[in-house]
Parts: sequence; structure tokens; C-alpha cells
Amino acid sequence: MNQKTYDIAIVGAGAAGLMAALPLAAYSREHFEEQPPVSVALIDRNKEAGRKLAKTGNGRCNFTNTSAPSAPYDTADEETLRAVLARVSPGEVREIFAQYGIESAEESAGRVYPTNTDAKGVRDLLEDGVGSEDVERVYGFAVKSIGLADGGIFRLTAENGDEILARNVILATGGKADPGSGSQGDGYAFARSLGHTVRPIHPALVRLRHDDPVLGPVKGVRVKGTVELYRDGERVDASYGEIQLNPGLLSGICVMDVSHGVYRTNEHAFDCVLTFDGNGPDGVPKQEIPARLLKAFTDALGEEAADEYLRQEKPYTVAVSGTQGWKEAQVTAGGVTLSEIDALTLESLRVPGLFFAGEILDATGPCGGYNLHWAWASGFLAGMSAMKRVIGDRNVLELQLREEEELAEEVVF
Ligand SMILES: Cc1cc2nc3c(=O)[nH]c(=O)nc-3n(C[C@H](O)[C@H](O)[C@H](O)COP(=O)(O)OP(=O)(O)OC[C@H]3O[C@@H](n4cnc5c(N)ncnc54)[C@H](O)[C@@H]3O)c2cc1C
Repeated sequence: MNQKTYDIAIVGAGAAGLMAALPLAAYSREHFEEQPPVSVALIDRNKEAGRKLAKTGNGRCNFTNTSAPSAPYDTADEETLRAVLARVSPGEVREIFAQYGIESAEESAGRVYPTNTDAKGVRDLLEDGVGSEDVERVYGFAVKSIGLADGGIFRLTAENGDEILARNVILATGGKADPGSGSQGDGYAFARSLGHTVRPIHPALVRLRHDDPVLGPVKGVRVKGTVELYRDGERVDASYGEIQLNPGLLSGICVMDVSHGVYRTNEHAFDCVLTFDGNGPDGVPKQEIPARLLKAFTDALGEEAADEYLRQEKPYTVAVSGTQGWKEAQVTAGGVTLSEIDALTLESLRVPGLFFAGEILDATGPCGGYNLHWAWASGFLAGMSAMKRVIGDRNVLELQLREEEELAEEVVF
């Protein structure tokens, strides 16, 4: 049987995979008269696209941030990361979204949200934008392995033995966070099997665990302050905002933002130094001290110490024992090393025709729309570049055929 070979297979129909598919579909629609369409398979293990995307931002989808290009992402290759971010700005992402019917507005701290729909609507509108005539959906197809067959063709094998052949592959399988959404970390094994290095991964944007005797029993308290993260006594990160206290857990956006710095707690000692907003220099309290917090400090340490920590901004050190796991984490820190990828095209420097996009890569942003921005930026570039490669290959083929024809004519006459 002559099996169809797709021009491009996108593995993962999450944020990055959908964004990669958009320019491919638009190209085929625009140039259908002069060019044969680029054949694309959009593959996902789920029966639907963007399961995680549909629940982002507490259902509202904080899809980019106006300060994304200069934001503090965690990566081992800052240069490649900045080069990618420099090519697709938050404004451009908003323009692309507007083309597909998603209007947006900037809220506090540069966070951008849709104004006329929610996270599920964003997923649906982007999927509608991909269209059905140009991009074939292959949902319910859980890729188990990716190998290289003769002629540089990729062979994608599913868990049930089904196969898909493709000339180019965009790996957009996400990370390992929130595995119930379909992102179970398989992409790292595919990348490794194709010769790529994966920076060790760990859960990030996740609550921190502690056994602190004072804060241990505190439940349902929200208090403003600064969180500083120390690794083996060295200050590695800091953030300010609302700290949430629950039995054995520290959370809140500012805690989540420093959480990517916590890993291998059996090898390193981590501390969170909390400085709660107390009285300003004029003696005026910056916030009302939550009664439950005041009671916990007073009961454990006495009135004087409670006053120092809660009103006089004396830093309070909490030993961190670990993080919550993959199920609770919002993103994955670590991933496919950026230095093995072309920053302009997102194509592998090791395997021609292999592209990467999204969370599978070693790029972790803080809370605030930065991780989705990375998925859009890298997805868009990977989609465009894969398409250029397909068209480029066709042109080379046409040129070769023409040269062969001309040669044949020369021989005849
Ligand atoms: C609850 C929650 C809320 C969040 N809110 C925000 C927010 O508001 N703003 C923000 O910037 N970020 C947010 N994030 C992070 C953001 O959602 C991710 O960074 C982003 O979705 C990553 O996009 P991706 O396309 O790389 O991966 P994913 O969205 O995870 O998509 C990967 C896709 O690949 C598929 N797949 C994986 N392996 C296989 C396989 N072997 N075969 C076939 N298919 C496969 C999966 O089923 C999945 O559909 C949130 C995350 C969570 C969990």
C-alpha cells in the first residue's frame, strides 16, 4: 500500500501546535491557485485540541504580557531565547489573535486577556482559524516513537501501532506539568531519541512545601509581602505580591514565580525569606494584619516577636522542604536545550526538518502570560519555517526537473 507522506506533522495540538498550524493553513488558502497545498497533519493524543489552553488564566486565558521580550525567563541559553522573543512581539500576537476574532486588553502588570471571549473561546477560535480543509486533524493518536526512515522521512508510530509519515515534524508536545491535559513528557524522549539534549526538568509555577512550626497550622490567609528564595544560603530569586498561607504550603503568584528555582531538594537546602508588609516609616500600617497570622505568631513566639515580624518587617525564614508535583504544577522548568536549535527558524541543528515549539523547550517564564507568549512566538516561527522548507524543497525539485529537461533537450538536438 502506498502510504501518504505529509509535508508537515505537528505533534501536539496545544497552544504552540495550534499557532504553528495557523500560518500553514493561511498559506494554503492564499496560494491554492499557483501552489499545491502544504499537507499538514495536526496530531494530538486527546480527542480535542488545546485541553490545557482551555483552562488557562483561571478560565480567562492570560495569553501574553506587554513586557514579554525582556521578562526574566529561566533558561540555560538566554541568547537564543531573546532572539526568538525578539521576532514575535506581544503586539504581533495580539494582532494575530484579532485576525481570528479575539479582541484583547492590557490589565495590571502588562497582563493581556481577551475581552470578547474566555480561555475555551480562545481555543475554539484558534482551532476554527486552522480550518479543516487544509490541515488534517489526527486526534486520538498518541505518538509512542518517532524515527527516521530512508530519505529523511519521519515515521511516527502510535501506541496502537498506527503510523504517520512526514517530511517535516514540529514537536509541540508541551512539558510534563498537568499531565491530565495530555502533556506527559513524551516529547523529551522523542527529542533524545533524535539526538537532542534535554536540560533536567522539574515542576515549576507550583506551591512550595514546608514544615515550619509557626506557619504550619495557618489556613486560608492572604498577606502582602516579599518572598526571597535562597539556595544553599545564596539569594537566587525574589518577588513581591500576595503570599497565600495554608497548612504546610506557601503559594500565591509571587511564590509560584520563585518556585522554578526549587529542585533536587535532597541535594540543596532552600529557604524562603518572607518579609510581610508592616508599618511604613511614617508608622502607618501598609496592610491590615490577618488575625489568624497574628495569633499564630503570638501563640508560638510571643507578642514582641509577632510585632517584629508582622509590623516591623523583620524577615521570617521558612525552610522549604519541596514543591508540589507535576499534577499541581503549571509549567515545566528545563527541557530541550535551545543551543541545539536555530533561533531564527526553530529548526533542529542536528536533524534537518525537525522543529520545536512551546513548553518542550528550555524556556520557563513567570506567571503573567509569559509561558503562553513563548508558545505563540515559538509556534509561529516553527510553523512559518517548516512551510518555507516545504516550499524551498519544492522549488529545488522543480529546478532540478527543469535542468534535467533542458539537459535532455540539449542531448536531442
Ligand atoms: C491550570 C493552568 C493554567 C495556566 N494559565 C496560564 C496563563 O494564564 N498564562 C500563561 O502564559 N500560561 C499559563 N499556563 C501555562 C501554559 O498553559 C503552557 O505553558 C502552554 O499551554 C504550553 O503550550 P504547549 O503547546 O507547549 O503545550 P500544551 O498546551 O501542554 O500542549 C501540548 C499538546 O501535546 C499533546 N501531546 C503530548 N504528548 C503527545 C503524544 N505523545 N502524542 C500526541 N499528542 C501529544 C497534548 O495532549 C497537548 O494537547 C497555565 C498552565 C496550567 C496548567
